[in-house]
Amino acid sequence: MELKEIKSNEVFTVDMMYAGTNNMLRTNIYGRVGLGNRCFVCADMYACLQKVAPQLQQRGLKLKICDAYRPPLAHQMMKEIIPMPGFFAAEAIRSQHCHASAVDVCLVNAATGQELDFPCKVDAYTPYFAEEVANGRWEEFRNHLEKAKYSWNNPQDAAKIANRSLLRSLMEQSGLQALEHEWWHFNLPDKDKYPMVEFSLVDGQFCFSAQK
Ligand SMILES: [Zn+2]
Repeated sequence: MELKEIKSNEVFTVDMMYAGTNNMLRTNIYGRVGLGNRCFVCADMYACLQKVAPQLQQRGLKLKICDAYRPPLAHQMMKEIIPMPGFFAAEAIRSQHCHASAVDVCLVNAATGQELDFPCKVDAYTPYFAEEVANGRWEEFRNHLEKAKYSWNNPQDAAKIANRSLLRSLMEQSGLQALEHEWWHFNLPDKDKYPMVEFSLVDGQFCFSAQK
């Protein structure tokens, strides 16, 4: 099967967070499985993102894509590094990232390249919190995860919440669905339409195959 690639351009910035070490896993998982900093999505997701593009340009914004298609093997490795429930979907088949039907995104000022402010960083699973959790200190991390939820409405964060609302409305207008506990994550509706996608490298070429 074919997935569509999104490359950095005047509307999109591809910066896959698991293609580096600045994440809670502290290891370049996408590099290890051969995907690297490459952003693939299914055709329907591609179409939705193209619909967002003119809206972004009108506002002088870009969409930064921090995760998209995730190879099931990468998901399995992530689960092995962080086996605690609640971090990653229990099985790859349950993560829409492994079906190429989900993206993790935020907004960036197109002129400066700066991320707009949101209640927390995308994903929020930083090396700092990895250390904290590894040492059994959960409280600060749990508080931090509250900021990932749409229910976080601290009046002091009004400007950040306005950016969160803007992102949500742009993505929903294009036909995507928000996730209540992660402001940066957007799914295609009707998820049963999209099979899990296996990834392999054959003679240096990326091959994707739908899991039956
Ligand atoms: Zn996600």
